[in-house]
Amino acid sequence: MTITEKVQNVAERISWAAARAGRRLEDVKLVAITKTVDVDLIRAAADAGVRIFGENYVQEAKEKIAAVGKDVEWHMTGHLQKNKARDAVNMFSMVQTIDSLGLAEELDKRAGAAGKVILGLIEVNLGEERSKSGVSKDELIPFLNSVKGLKNLSVRGLMAIPPFFDEPEKVRPYFKALRELRDRANAEGFSLSELSMGMSHDFEVAVEEGATMVRIGTAIFGERG
Ligand SMILES: *Cc1c(COP(=O)(O)O)cnc(C)c1O
Repeated sequence: MTITEKVQNVAERISWAAARAGRRLEDVKLVAITKTVDVDLIRAAADAGVRIFGENYVQEAKEKIAAVGKDVEWHMTGHLQKNKARDAVNMFSMVQTIDSLGLAEELDKRAGAAGKVILGLIEVNLGEERSKSGVSKDELIPFLNSVKGLKNLSVRGLMAIPPFFDEPEKVRPYFKALRELRDRANAEGFSLSELSMGMSHDFEVAVEEGATMVRIGTAIFGERG
């Protein structure tokens, strides 16, 4: 399949999964994950209609954003170090991986200095895995309270990278848990609309459970070398 065909295939599968859950394709944004992917392929995906790209490394993103040169949006989807917050604010419209108060404050400060508002998602460590970053479920509401006063960081929702299972159905409880966490936060007065969850092998289940952004690498660009 060409990149165009793969993008169309993913879009169709999102659409079917959305329909099964009584949702619409427009409610789910496709974020194409470009780590280790060549600029030519990224351009091809943009030409095929992909409007949002996600990068995991600031340095890689810097080169690619300039080289791709298309009118598309870039999100940070990898772990972000505080000392890269200024670069991140310049390159990305959204940081999907806010995992500490220090990072949130630094992004706010740097966005303020640049005269802009950066969008953010709070990364939740659903499996409470030590190897992964993210705020724990129990800390989420206090965390949201701590960042709600930041004027140049606009928190739009939650993101998670659940534990890996071959069988996508096994991930469903994690996706459901993230949606329930968001709904609970909203019941407490927050207004979080976004749920970034689901990758190449499990995005249909994520869409059925309410994902508003799916992060797809392999299914569009092929296996990473
Ligand atoms: C690599 C990556 C993805 C995409 O994974 P695929 O399985 O290739 O679709 C999604 N989200 C994050 C945070 C990633 O690092």
